[in-house]
Amino acid sequence: MKEKRKFYINGEWVDPISTHDYQVINPASEEPCAIVSFGSDRDVNRAVAAAKEAFPAWSITPPEERIDLVERLLEAYKERAQEFGEAMSVEMGAPIDFARTKQFDRGIFNMKGLIEAAKCFKFEEDFDPTRPDLRNFYEAHGVCALITPWNWPINQISLKVPAAALAGCTMVLKPSEESPLNAMLFAELIHEVGFPKGVFNLVNGDGQGVGTCLTKHPDIDLVSFTGSTRAGREILRNAADGLKKVSLELGGKGGNIIFSDADKDAVERGVRDVMLNSGQSCNAPTRMIVQREIYDDVVKKAAEVISSIAISDPSKQGDHIGPVVNQKQYDHIQSLIQKGVDEGASLIVGGTGRPNGFKNGYYVKPTLFADAENSMTIAQTEIFGPVLTIIPFDSEDEAIEISNNTVYGLGSYVQTIDGEKANRVARKLRYGMVTMNGVSRVPGQPFGGYKQSGIGREGGRWGLEDFLQLKSVTGWN
Ligand code: NAD
Repeated sequence: MKEKRKFYINGEWVDPISTHDYQVINPASEEPCAIVSFGSDRDVNRAVAAAKEAFPAWSITPPEERIDLVERLLEAYKERAQEFGEAMSVEMGAPIDFARTKQFDRGIFNMKGLIEAAKCFKFEEDFDPTRPDLRNFYEAHGVCALITPWNWPINQISLKVPAAALAGCTMVLKPSEESPLNAMLFAELIHEVGFPKGVFNLVNGDGQGVGTCLTKHPDIDLVSFTGSTRAGREILRNAADGLKKVSLELGGKGGNIIFSDADKDAVERGVRDVMLNSGQSCNAPTRMIVQREIYDDVVKKAAEVISSIAISDPSKQGDHIGPVVNQKQYDHIQSLIQKGVDEGASLIVGGTGRPNGFKNGYYVKPTLFADAENSMTIAQTEIFGPVLTIIPFDSEDEAIEISNNTVYGLGSYVQTIDGEKANRVARKLRYGMVTMNGVSRVPGQPFGGYKQSGIGREGGRWGLEDFLQLKSVTGWN
């Protein structure tokens, strides 16, 4: 078992001030795979002090120097797919091939987008070309707390750390206690490529301990958080006294509108997007909203695809899904599946309990509900497991209304070959992101949500701007 008790503070790996061991559990075996430490308030103070001390010098480095360092970080990262894959596979249960490709590749995707954005960004500009004495400066916001979840762990870290660094901020990262290993590997790369000491610091811990200490800390200027809407609310409250800037990337309950003229792959694509990562994606299209004319065929097709999803140990190579992250998530998903049955949705595939052949591990049966109403709990609550709910509609307006009728507004989806209809619907969807007909996103596009899915955007120019503040100067010479 790996012993990784140290924190990365002020350019070196240091012991925690007091002992507080925490076992990281492999969700496939339910056995510990590593021991880390939870930090105390004193560890947090030490990390924040290092970041505060590093800020004045780092924040005024020329942007080119920071870009160069993050480019070196990206190059070093590219060499480590195997290690990152293995770490994510044991700590959060991502199947190994998926972990070292799709999960790992998000890091490259995000860093590329941010580097490109920083290269094009004007950190200084005239307010008015005819008045060179009026000038705008985009400056580093300050000392940042970066708090990340376990589900796409390196995705979130690679959206926040490089953005903060490129902006000239210094930072303390607190990764999820469920997935600290990939974050510690990332810290090793930061050290290897020579970030100045104090610019990046890492303290492990949970939300109630290190998370709360960071969000209330008087020397933290900005909190960038990705995780549940529940924690997002607590963080806003905790950050309120210090009037810290807070950006939040929270939960989702994506609507996927399938019109009768959708392309032939639309249903399979939608199902696979939900099952990916065992359903643990904030932007998953978990509500399939289907036009009545094709409803029966879609339910049949979705059932076929879900029944064909292989489930296996994450350490095994190949295309399958693994367990969900922990006992708590497993129990949460089980109770929601039961709720779907109790509230009268038709259970087509899956259901409660482990899949056949699994006696332990947090494995969930890929599950399909049909004939659901949008008011049901399974249609309104973020399940965060391999569960798809199908809801019928009759008119375009009704489809839009169902899709929008959620407290969330992160990722939404539209499937139709009618371009005008697709565009019309996209304009009416109250979501931060609309994906039409499976067209992939590219590096640098803004990621984030409306309503209770969050505040702010990550990725590219918008992700960089989140870590900057604007100074307006008159009388510039
Ligand atoms: P979580 O909210 O339980 O934990 C996320 C992180 O916040 C962890 O590091 C945790 O220790 C910390 N934390 C928890 N409570 C805290 C508090 N009160 N103060 C400070 N820190 C606190 O979420 P999770 O279960 O790790 O992740 C799953 C959630 O993340 C889902 O809701 C998912 O939709 C969301 N998510 C959103 C996005 C997005 O970009 N919108 C991306 C990925 C995940």
